[in-house]
Amino acid sequence: WGNQISSALAAMSNSTIINEETINHLLKEVGNALSRADVSMSLIIKMRKNIQAQIKLDQMAAGLNKRRIIRKVVFDELIKLLDPGVTPWKPTKGKSNIIMFVGLQGAGKTTSVTKLAHFYKRKGWNTAMVCADTFRAGAFAQLQHNATKAKIPFYGSESEKDPVAAAKKGVEIFRKEGAEIIIVDTSGRHKQESELFKEMSEIETVIQPDNVIFVMDSSIGQAAYDQAMAFKTSVKVGSVIITKMDGNSKGGGAISAVAATQSPIIFIGSGEHIPDLEIFNPTSFVSKLLGLGDVNGMVEMIQDVVPPDPNAWKEMSEGNFTFRNMKQQFQQIMNMGPIEKIVQMFPGMSNMPMLQGGEGNLKLKAYMTILDSMTDDELDGKKQMNPSRMLRIARGSGRHPREVGELTEQKKMFEKMFKKGGGLSNLANMAGGGK
Ligand code: GDP
Ligand code: MG
Repeated sequence: WGNQISSALAAMSNSTIINEETINHLLKEVGNALSRADVSMSLIIKMRKNIQAQIKLDQMAAGLNKRRIIRKVVFDELIKLLDPGVTPWKPTKGKSNIIMFVGLQGAGKTTSVTKLAHFYKRKGWNTAMVCADTFRAGAFAQLQHNATKAKIPFYGSESEKDPVAAAKKGVEIFRKEGAEIIIVDTSGRHKQESELFKEMSEIETVIQPDNVIFVMDSSIGQAAYDQAMAFKTSVKVGSVIITKMDGNSKGGGAISAVAATQSPIIFIGSGEHIPDLEIFNPTSFVSKLLGLGDVNGMVEMIQDVVPPDPNAWKEMSEGNFTFRNMKQQFQQIMNMGPIEKIVQMFPGMSNMPMLQGGEGNLKLKAYMTILDSMTDDELDGKKQMNPSRMLRIARGSGRHPREVGELTEQKKMFEKMFKKGGGLSNLANMAGGGK
């Protein structure tokens, strides 16, 4: 669905005029894409209304970049669908935090219990797992196997037939031992049955969880909303984990799960193995779904921030790419706002060397310091780089000579890109692996 929305956005970018008709067409495409991704009709209608309310063509001053404003409104509304505006639950130190997992059979509960336990264990929490699935044959053996692999204490019993008793006993044991996080795995059924919800509600009453996590398979389709709703009405769901996002799932169910439970998605499962758990971020989720299909939009957005000096642009595309041009380019990127946000917007860019290193000690900033230590002649390409110059620049900027070398290599890369034509759009292509 991301692709369809991004091509709709791209079509808008390429259309010469923006009027009611263009917008209606865009909204229709966005709606179709979401509907195909199993987002419920009522949500889609709500979203379209929200978008329409924010786009007032007659009030947009001439010269405003309408395309960019519209694109941003659509993007933000998609993110809003995934963000219930609730702060996710966090465990408290100095007590036993009880987490209960619920979801249908096969959703990925037992796998996710282990992943989450492993996640907290790595952060230094004293963690334990409890098996309260007495329904499925081999459920305890599976949890035991997982827990052993992750080296996490566990409780369960092959002979116990009462899930409520098993949950109660396990929680009691680990509470006494002073475990800080106790995760209780429950059973699911193939269908939504009243016995299942009754069982969940009874377990909840007995163990009094601090958080109930609803686990949903990302590929379940239209049933997502009802399923999430059914769990929400029987237990106090506080968070959501969406699994199997590594497959070719359309992901729209995630939106329905949030809408039904009014709870934030906290993690997504991205594989069968214990470390395959990613912290959920609505912005990057939507960006990834939109993919780099909207490269036009991205280029337009970059160019909007600081329109490049036309002369410099011409020179660059003629192949006279200097360190000074590079400095201007970097400055533009930095002007766009926090780098992390930019990288989130354009996931492919995170592979670019200059964006490595995280916000605080970003490579880009180091490169800027190096560029600051160059003389005008060096910046303008009137003096060729050589080892002694590079060493002087390194000393002057307080950076490692290796980084000056890296920067010189980067400049060569940029030079090639601009020679091929297209400037920043080439940059986008490179970042996205040529999409
Ligand atoms: P449960 O019945 O809800 O406890 O589900 P399980 O944890 O037993 O998982 C059911 C199946 O889905 C197993 O084969 C898991 O390996 C698989 N699975 C769970 N999470 C993921 C995921 O994020 N990605 C993939 N590819 N498989 C998953
Ligand atoms: Mg299970």
